[in-house]
Amino acid sequence: MEEQPSENSPPPAGSKPCYRCGTELPADAELCSRCGRTQFRTCYCGKEIPVDAPTCPHCGADWSGSRRVHKSRRRRSGKVRPQEVVKSAAIGAGAAIGIAGLLTILLRYFATIATGGAKLPPDVFAQLGLARQGLGIVAAGWSEWFVAYRLSFLFIGAVLVIGGVIGVSTYLANKGLIKLGSASRSSGHRHSGRRRRSTSK
Ligand SMILES: [Zn+2]
Ligand SMILES: [Zn+2]
Repeated sequence: MEEQPSENSPPPAGSKPCYRCGTELPADAELCSRCGRTQFRTCYCGKEIPVDAPTCPHCGADWSGSRRVHKSRRRRSGKVRPQEVVKSAAIGAGAAIGIAGLLTILLRYFATIATGGAKLPPDVFAQLGLARQGLGIVAAGWSEWFVAYRLSFLFIGAVLVIGGVIGVSTYLANKGLIKLGSASRSSGHRHSGRRRRSTSK
């Protein structure tokens, strides 16, 4: 084991929120100026670490079971930021306007097919009826087309499915969720690593 350069507390960098009440404190503050809670604990390795750190940055000790780590996680996740809410609402409203616009365009498109390019009636329900007729006309055209090119569609579909399966398995294998011959690969890796270490000596 190599000796790490000894330092008793993490380097102060800017500010950090109190793990309990969220007050912004200097990064090296021992106590919270508002609620008075201790911001550091002494790890098994003797170093001072933030009480909300799930692992010790010095020795890697697991503190994730600590009550104060849980408390800080709950506080952070439960916090509602007004800016985030406004942003989400704006995105939602924008998406709704976009979808409504798209639906209107589609509605008018299919209604125009049904009327054969004539002017649409102002009544929305009449337009809806026309749009349904137009959709039927278009669908009938599509099914004719589909029957004519059925073999090509089956071929393209098969290619897409195979490609998709390959893509998904590659992704999952990379994520380590499924293992493709990992046992032999990892043992081979360990073996070659040991050999390399002995030859470099
Ligand atoms: Zn506090
Ligand atoms: Zn430690």
